[in-house]
Amino acid sequence: MTAPPQLTGARRRLVEELRHKGIRSEAVLDAIAKTPRHVFVPTGVAHRAYEDSALPIGSGQTISQPYVHARSLELAAITPTDTVLEVGTGSGYQSALLGALAGTVYSIETVAPLADRAREALRLAGTTNVHVIVGDGSAGWAANAPYDAIIVSAAAPSVPAPLVSQLAEGGRLVVPVGDREAQRLILATRRGTRIVQSDGEPVRFVPLLGEHGWSA
Ligand code: SAH
Repeated sequence: MTAPPQLTGARRRLVEELRHKGIRSEAVLDAIAKTPRHVFVPTGVAHRAYEDSALPIGSGQTISQPYVHARSLELAAITPTDTVLEVGTGSGYQSALLGALAGTVYSIETVAPLADRAREALRLAGTTNVHVIVGDGSAGWAANAPYDAIIVSAAAPSVPAPLVSQLAEGGRLVVPVGDREAQRLILATRRGTRIVQSDGEPVRFVPLLGEHGWSA
């Protein structure tokens, strides 16, 4: 989909802002440069689509700040042949970024109307390698496991065990872990039978609900 020229300019400025804030992955910056974020936000806030800020998307949920998406994607170190699981489709914007970076993406969302809207936005954005599933992603999605990367877009009380078990050898799991108010972005990598975990920067996500998340 071709964006109006003023949006293209705004998107270019967003990419420069993210670079300035420390995003180093050219692949991630390139994905952001070519993905129309305005398609994934409600029309009422579309004029703010290229600000580096979180925005409301309905059903009490938010599309994350582009910097947070960029950081999560950078940590996940996605390559073009990867099979990726995203937990928390929300608007579908990060799913589109994943689609630009990976081979195949499965994205799971609990709220069916959000999943429907995300599918439509992905279609408008021209993304064809993202499959949106309605379900509880706190248990992962065993049907298509193992995954080279798993990105969780909602905050978990601890690293959900099923997600770790669905990682391929060398697979990366990026998940915000903490309490309901504040979390840290954790990177867990599978090395044989070991899981190597590093503690990242402070973030704030909406809660991951479900069997391996918070109860509503
Ligand atoms: N990356 C998304 C962020 C959406 S907010 C975006 O850019 O728009 C997090 C999303 O996680 C919400 O849509 C919420 O409904 C969803 N969610 C919460 N718990 C979930 C679960 N157990 N399984 C799947 N999705 C979940």
